[in-house]
Amino acid sequence: MARYHIETYGCTSNRGESREIERRLRDAGHHRVEGVEEADVAILNTCTVVEKTERNMLRRAQELTDEIADLYVTGCMALAQGEEFREADVDAEVLHWDEVPEAVTNGECPTPTPDAEPILDGVVGILPIARGCMSNCSYCITKQATGRVESPPVEENVEKARALVHAGATEIRITGQDTGVYGWDTGERKLPELLERICTEIEGDFRVRVGMANPGGIHGIREELAEVFAAHDELYNFLHAPVQSGSDDVLEEMRRQHRVEQYVEIVETFDDHLEEWTLSTDFIVGFPTEDDEDHEMSMALLRETRPEKVNVTRFSKRPGTDAADMKGLGGTLKKERSKEMSAAKREIVGEAYESMVGDERDVLVTEYGTGDSVKCYDSAYRQVIVQNADEYGLEPGDFATVEVTGHQTMYAFGEPL
Ligand code: SF4
Repeated sequence: MARYHIETYGCTSNRGESREIERRLRDAGHHRVEGVEEADVAILNTCTVVEKTERNMLRRAQELTDEIADLYVTGCMALAQGEEFREADVDAEVLHWDEVPEAVTNGECPTPTPDAEPILDGVVGILPIARGCMSNCSYCITKQATGRVESPPVEENVEKARALVHAGATEIRITGQDTGVYGWDTGERKLPELLERICTEIEGDFRVRVGMANPGGIHGIREELAEVFAAHDELYNFLHAPVQSGSDDVLEEMRRQHRVEQYVEIVETFDDHLEEWTLSTDFIVGFPTEDDEDHEMSMALLRETRPEKVNVTRFSKRPGTDAADMKGLGGTLKKERSKEMSAAKREIVGEAYESMVGDERDVLVTEYGTGDSVKCYDSAYRQVIVQNADEYGLEPGDFATVEVTGHQTMYAFGEPL
């Protein structure tokens, strides 16, 4: 688990978002520390009210990157003027606030707390379907806290999903440490069956987002899974399968349960079944045994599979893990590699959003954004922001058709038709 340092500037909305970031980090077992010296990662939640504040934010970001390996910048300035951080050569990941908790994990899976129950957050229902994972990654400390897979019966999860929809959820987020191994402990992987039953047995207008599934867990069920996605409009065409490296040698040292070829086969299977879908993946950059050639292989894999959502994490040692005993790479080399990968990622993601401009998209409004905006998702779980939501009478839970009018690096802008 990571030790994090967080700084928040600006209005009550920023402070609320930081509180939520902290809640999720705490639930995942991370610890807040006072002082950057003690921390593995830093989070800067920015404000952009006046020019002077902008300059302060840039300066503070620069100071933090000089002191710490990983900096995540979020908040108003990061999202509205993310380019300024890049132009100032600040080596940080610019993220929407709700992407920060996942990015902080050093490649470890999100960890539901013991006996986690479904939560309704506005119109978003969060449904933990199982706990534990079947792997033993050499860099992971989460595993030590959670153990093997424990899967409740499909029927029980379907009932929980039904209860969320009845309580007002229009988006169900299926979560777990590794959703792809749901059922593994019972001798049968049951994610496709669970998704099929949620989509066919629950009445109502809702969407389902499937959370992180490791490639090792879903490779054997990739056909079945892609067929379920293709058959049901309720499922966002979105898959988060963290590959972590493009080199089999590094995957071996990481003790990941997949190889590059299996990851590529999953992507090809989804390409075959779905006209449009979003691949999300994670890369750990600078693992102790990663040489130049391994890094180039990761870059090549990124360019080949073109994921439209990518978490790039610089490797940092977690005490008590096997990888912590390996001789690490230098901080400068890790920074260079992560910068190169983050730049390629921005290009790929930016092109994906650029290609949407001018399209009509059916979207679901999931929450309020900053000012008078709402956050929406299309069928491939690409984020579309609609401004002046009041004027259009849009609120969370609504379905709408929008024309995509522009984009930022990580989201598009749309106008209701
Ligand atoms: S799959 Fe690997 S990284 Fe994820 S929780 Fe299990 S051991 Fe940790």
